[in-house]
Amino acid sequence: MNLPLSFIQHTQSILGDQWEAFEKALDAPSPVSIRLNPVKARSKSFAWDGITPVPWSESGFYLPVRPSFTFDPLFHAGVYYVQEASSMFVEQAFRQHVSGSVRVLDLCAAPGGKSTHIASLIDRDSLLVSNEVITSRANVLLDNVMKSGFDNVVVTNNDPLALGRLGAAFDVILVDAPCSGEGMFRKDAGSVSEWSEGNVQLCCERQQRIVLDVWPALNENGLLIYSTCTYNLRENEENVRWIMDNLGAEIVELQIDENWKISSSLSPESKVAVNRFLPHRTCGEGFFMAVLRKTSEAEEVAISKKKEKKQKAKPAPVPTGLERLVLHPERYAFREINGKWRAYPPQVSAFLEQSEGLKILNAGIFLGEQKGKDLVVSHALALSNDLNRAAFPVENVDRQTAVNYLRKEPVVLPDAPTGYVLLAYEDSPIGFVKNIGNRTNNLLPNEWRIKSSYLPEQNESWLK
Ligand code: SAM
Repeated sequence: MNLPLSFIQHTQSILGDQWEAFEKALDAPSPVSIRLNPVKARSKSFAWDGITPVPWSESGFYLPVRPSFTFDPLFHAGVYYVQEASSMFVEQAFRQHVSGSVRVLDLCAAPGGKSTHIASLIDRDSLLVSNEVITSRANVLLDNVMKSGFDNVVVTNNDPLALGRLGAAFDVILVDAPCSGEGMFRKDAGSVSEWSEGNVQLCCERQQRIVLDVWPALNENGLLIYSTCTYNLRENEENVRWIMDNLGAEIVELQIDENWKISSSLSPESKVAVNRFLPHRTCGEGFFMAVLRKTSEAEEVAISKKKEKKQKAKPAPVPTGLERLVLHPERYAFREINGKWRAYPPQVSAFLEQSEGLKILNAGIFLGEQKGKDLVVSHALALSNDLNRAAFPVENVDRQTAVNYLRKEPVVLPDAPTGYVLLAYEDSPIGFVKNIGNRTNNLLPNEWRIKSSYLPEQNESWLK
């Protein structure tokens, strides 16, 4: 790999005699890894040999070769997420230090790898606010969160400062910071050409600004998980030191199995307990993660006072049959905004009441849209972990029909009853059609459509 000279000099100086092995690893192929959605993959099993676990994640696995994910209906059903293995290490922070009902903010969340992972790790009474500042990326995040099917996630599109203004609102904040991307050199050739020393400096300053802006939103004793996918000290150990010294935080150690071969601090000055993934030692890309506990005081901001003054509008009457769409309807408040019906679990309702001024893209389960007398059921409902399947006739279709549906082509279901029908592949819901007798209306959102007309010959699924 053609590496920038100043990158070589800095990295060589921090890696010492590991440099040669590191450089060689950058020329090796990237491993392929996925993370199963524990709710949706409950009854699935592997159909291939050679699938091995990611040691630091209970739901992460390496695949021996890269299948065509695009043409796998189970990928579209949210049964798994294609995710780089090192970044699944965030699981250890949650398993070891987070319990009970918590409020979590994933501040830099798109495309959603860590958010969908966190959603699968926290209690169902917990809340995850999954935020992305760049609008186009926030829409990708929205799709991935929807695919994962959890009802306790709120997707937002805000600047860190806007979330900081909430005041102490979260027990855990993940800042998976935008960085110079050195850890992605092997996977993404573009990241090599975009790299410069100046950009490392810009990234470092931006990371400090992001943490500073969101810091008021973290409760006292709350956890900040800070991560990057880069190697240099400035964006990693030095920024962790900066957070400790300037904002008031202490390091929280993680228990690490030594077989995982995770490295510790590479800084000669700062020997704090941080976690580094180096590609010649761990099977994955470059990754850095530190867990910090806020020791400084956290200020309650007077959001609740503002809220008290606000007259609450009387909720619209819930249409007959709506509650039947979800399992455990007693858990939810059913709310209508501009004809769109959603089901909010209590922690989501509570956050929405507090979140005046924030740009919210989705909260709870989007059930469907009222059009005249008809409630047009949403794709999000089909993919929700809380869908009541008994509310719909279910048609299990073969792989070719599932792919046709996912291309938004017409699907014919001669034996299905008329009305909304839930399509499933290998018993995993992939979406709705409206059967009108001799044909069906395909309700897959247009932007979710598989655009390629190519169908790979090798389409044997690795998961059944
Ligand atoms: N956590 C994501 C995941 O696991 O899929 C990856 C996040 S990526 C490393 C960093 C994200 O930070 C990007 O989505 C980027 O758009 C966002 N970002 C860029 N500038 C930002 C800023 N000034 N404040 C907050 N987020 C920013």
